[in-house]
Amino acid sequence: MAGTGTAHLREAENPVLRVHNLVVEYSTGGGEKFAAVADISLDILRGETLGLVGESGCGKSTVAKAIMQLPKPTSGEVLFDGRNLAAMSASELRSERRKLQMIFQDPISSLNPLRRVRHIVAEGLDVAGKGSRAERAAAVDDMLSVVGLDPEVAGDRRPHEFSGGQCQRISIARAIVVEPDLVVCDEPVSALDVSVQAQILNLLEDMKERYGLTLLFIAHDLAVVKNVSDRVVVMYLGKICEVASPDSLYAAPRHPYTEALLAAIPEPDPMAAPTGDALVGELPSPHDPPSGCRFRTRCPRADSLCSAEEPVIREVAPNHFVACHFPLSEPNDRKQP
Ligand code: ADP
Ligand code: MG
Repeated sequence: MAGTGTAHLREAENPVLRVHNLVVEYSTGGGEKFAAVADISLDILRGETLGLVGESGCGKSTVAKAIMQLPKPTSGEVLFDGRNLAAMSASELRSERRKLQMIFQDPISSLNPLRRVRHIVAEGLDVAGKGSRAERAAAVDDMLSVVGLDPEVAGDRRPHEFSGGQCQRISIARAIVVEPDLVVCDEPVSALDVSVQAQILNLLEDMKERYGLTLLFIAHDLAVVKNVSDRVVVMYLGKICEVASPDSLYAAPRHPYTEALLAAIPEPDPMAAPTGDALVGELPSPHDPPSGCRFRTRCPRADSLCSAEEPVIREVAPNHFVACHFPLSEPNDRKQP
C-alpha cells in the first residue's frame, strides 16, 4: 500500500461520517510543509465501530483531529451526516460540536486538573444549555454512575485523585453525557495498564450499546481493535493500506504491512510457529516519503513497479480492499505453518 483511492467507500449507504481525500499538512521550521495525512478516505455507518490502526507516527491522531476540525484539514471533505464540516464557519461548527466528541489517549492530562469531576463532566451540557441546572446536575450524576463512579464520592474530587482507568471513565462520561452521534476514541486504552484496558474497552462497548453510538476507534495495536471493530482500516505513513472486517483481516491479511503487524502480536501459545514476516526497520519520515508505494522500503514483495507507481485501493475479496501491487494470495494458497 500505502495508496490512494475510494473503492472501499460505501456509496450506497448513508454514513454518519464520510471523509473524502483528506490531506493534513504541517509546517516544519524552515517554512516547508509535509503531509502527515496524504489523501485518506473513509466512512463510518451508523452504529458501527471503525477501527483505525497503524504504527505510532503514521498519522492516526492527525486524522482524528482533522475530523474534529481541530484544526481544519488542509484539503478534503469531512461529511458529518452529509454536511461538510471543513467548509463550515466557526459558528456553524460550534452547533455541531456536541454531536462529535473525542476521548484522548492520556486520560489524566486531558482533564482540567483544577476542576471538580462533576464540573468537568457538566461542561458540554452547560455549553449546550440543555435543560435546567438541576436537570443537568442529575444527568451528570446518572452518567457518573453509568461509567462506574459513585457521584457522591467522585463528584467533588479533582482528576489527580483518580487512577488512569478512573480518569478514562470520567473522560467517557464527559463525552457521552452530551448525547453525541459520533465518538472519536484516540488510543483510549494505550496509556492504561493491561489489566485496566479490558475494563475500559468493555465500558466503551456497553456505552455504545446503551446510547446507540457510532465510534471511530484508534489504536496502534491490531489486537486491541480486533474485538471492538466492525471494520478495520490499516494506515501506513499517512495513507491507507487495507480495509476489511476484522475476521477477514485477521484470517487473511492481503497487505504485507498488515501481515507484519499481525505477526508482531504475541501468540498465546509460545510453541506456535510464527505466522509471517515481522516488520523490519523504522517508519520512514513523512517529510520525505518513498516514491510509489510508501511501504516498499520495508516490504519483502516490493519490485520496480512499487517505486514507480502508487497502488490504488481495490476490492480483492467481498468487502476486503487493499492498496498493493502484489497483494498476498488467499490463505489456502499460502505456506502452512
Ligand atoms: P499517530 O497518531 O499515528 O502516532 P500523528 O498523527 O500524531 O501520528 O503524527 C503523524 C506525523 O505528523 C508524525 O510524523 C508527527 O511527528 C507529525 N506531527 C504530529 N503533530 C504535528 C504538529 N502539530 N506539527 C508538526 N508535525 C506534527
Ligand atoms: Mg496518536
